Amino acid sequence: MTGHHPDVAHRASAGFQTAYGEAPAGRWAAPGRVNLIGEHTDYNDGFVLPFALPLRTVVAAAPQPAGNWTVWSELTGETIGFGADEVATPGRVTGWGAYVAGVVWALREAGHPVPGARLAIASDVPLGAGLSSSAALEAATLTALVDLGGLEVPAEHQPRLAQRAENRYVGAPTGVMDQSAAIRCLAGHALFLDCRTERVEHIPFDLDLAGLAVLVLDSRAPHRHADGEYAARRDTCEKAAALLGVPALRDVPTVGLDDALARLPDDETRRRVRHVVTEDQRVLDTVALLRDGRVRHIGGLLTASHASMRDDFAITVPEVDTAVDAALAAGALGARMTGGGFGGCVLALVDADDAERVAAAVTAAYAERGFAAPGHVTVTPSAGATRLD
Ligand code: ADP
Ligand code: MG
Repeated sequence: MTGHHPDVAHRASAGFQTAYGEAPAGRWAAPGRVNLIGEHTDYNDGFVLPFALPLRTVVAAAPQPAGNWTVWSELTGETIGFGADEVATPGRVTGWGAYVAGVVWALREAGHPVPGARLAIASDVPLGAGLSSSAALEAATLTALVDLGGLEVPAEHQPRLAQRAENRYVGAPTGVMDQSAAIRCLAGHALFLDCRTERVEHIPFDLDLAGLAVLVLDSRAPHRHADGEYAARRDTCEKAAALLGVPALRDVPTVGLDDALARLPDDETRRRVRHVVTEDQRVLDTVALLRDGRVRHIGGLLTASHASMRDDFAITVPEVDTAVDAALAAGALGARMTGGGFGGCVLALVDADDAERVAAAVTAAYAERGFAAPGHVTVTPSAGATRLD
């Protein structure tokens, strides 16, 4: 993961200056996220509990004549441009520019007069690691354009717009969790999101006060078959809900789980359903503990979530299982894979003083098995999208 080389906000304005020969009118930032708990519950109308990372994407921006957008990113060092025609048709702008064009498209579709703009993008969110650099980019772009144009887009509508950009313009099927986290999170809190109603609630998650830290470990595992497996899990869940006569697995109550499982045709389906139903309950239990300020006590739920993903939902891989086992053996209070699975990141809840020791233990376990060294970073729950200056 990225270390602390020149500050990301500085890189965005320096990039703006180099690309356009002038200073930006302002800078806007939006964070990556991790999901504390609640995996594969989103498309089952259930619960998730992400929090925003201190790793952010920054957009430096200034207005330019209507119907013109120019974007530089430090990712490739290129400057791309597009106009109203290209923005009107999803898919016309491709590559990384599609995330920016998609946000313009979604805002215009919703009837907002999006100002023309020059943008420069820098980011500390690693790409493709499961920390949602895509939503960070969408959220930073959206916030910048809303502010520059003085558009009236209530915060509670912004996640849907950013999600539409990604679903419809970029063409990537994702739920609304990532964009909700990137836009709506508060520092020192996790975001409790009901994926059926899209209602959000800020749950205190003050790691500093508890003397704790969350260590995020990038498993660096290649995403083997992730898309196909994701589609298969989704399909199994939808068919199971239909068999059980409920709109979604969220409607299977924990107390009725055994009865529901008895009505399912095969062991694999039963295990998939058991994951989703117990995972929803673990999110609710985590929220209850956090509301009571019992942060240390959520560790067991995190570890149980991992076991459920490994044994019932079958979405883990040896690299993430190794990271979880090694972190727990080194004294982590709880650990789990976060994200859709088949690779991605592991998070471990640790005593703040233990973070480096736990990271070293995971690195050693990886070396023993011949896996590429994992990246790691210690994170605290941070703020959602915001104007910097
Ligand atoms: P994740 O969201 O897990 O990081 P995705 O595949 O959903 O992975 O999104 C990554 C893509 O988002 C990149 O391939 C790139 O197209 C785009 N992207 C993210 N951050 C930036 C950035 N700073 N500059 C340009 N494109 C970016
Ligand atoms: Mg993404």
